[in-house]
Amino acid sequence: MIRSDTLTLKGGSGTMVIFTDLDGTLLDSSTYSFEAAREALDQLHVRSIPLIIVSSKTQAEIEPLRTGLGNEHPFIVENGGAVVIPSSYFPFQLPAATNHNQYALVELGTSYAVLRQALKEIEQELGVELRGYGDMSIDEVVRRTGLPRPDAQLAMQRHYDEPFVVEDEPCPLETLTHAITARGLRWTKGDRFHHLMGVQDKGQAVHYLIDCYRRLADHDPDRLITVGIGNSLNDLPMLQAVEQPVLVQQPNGLYETAISLPKLVLAPGPGPLGWNRAVLSLLG
Ligand SMILES: [Mg+2]
Repeated sequence: MIRSDTLTLKGGSGTMVIFTDLDGTLLDSSTYSFEAAREALDQLHVRSIPLIIVSSKTQAEIEPLRTGLGNEHPFIVENGGAVVIPSSYFPFQLPAATNHNQYALVELGTSYAVLRQALKEIEQELGVELRGYGDMSIDEVVRRTGLPRPDAQLAMQRHYDEPFVVEDEPCPLETLTHAITARGLRWTKGDRFHHLMGVQDKGQAVHYLIDCYRRLADHDPDRLITVGIGNSLNDLPMLQAVEQPVLVQQPNGLYETAISLPKLVLAPGPGPLGWNRAVLSLLG
């Protein structure tokens, strides 16, 4: 069970839930550290505000990070491929969930084998090299991501999302998009890679959890305040799903231009620095 203090946010009061991207948002884009967000993270702990990780990272990568953060809340893996909820977290039956060890797993994504096959078919069809994680050695993943080798190993344990690079640029994005959508699949752009995935996105997975938190607050559903924080195009569906979207700066101090939403708050600072300031200001 969770409990959250009542908070005031821009004219209303209620229970807050924060959804956050990791890379380039809560984690520094080059060092992968969340130290700059420490003060705001501590405040969330003190006030028992659920912080939900929503990442293109795999479950294997997110688990140790979550431990490092002292986070015991649900999380969303591989760009919305699955929602992972600790068993007994919500005091009711979860729709479409299956039990896996200490978690209830809600799978929304297309299987990795299907994605791999589609990527290779599209490569043939377009005559451009599309290099996915499944084509890379661990050394290549280390080189392209800057991740330490053990972390790269965790990043390669994929189930619902295939990060890839287009080796023969320029490949017209319209051509690539057409080949992907013709197969009933989608793609998005993260910080370092394009991502091939099924029809899932971060937004659907966030909606699933918002419904759960609404149910938890059924005595007063209007008083759930949802916040989303991201930095890249793959965060757009998550930011659209929440009441208060927040965008942090890229390392160069600019904001992702493809994201514009009416209530968007532009956090003053890149990655975890902007995250820290934005969350402290929302908490008031
Ligand atoms: Mg990011």
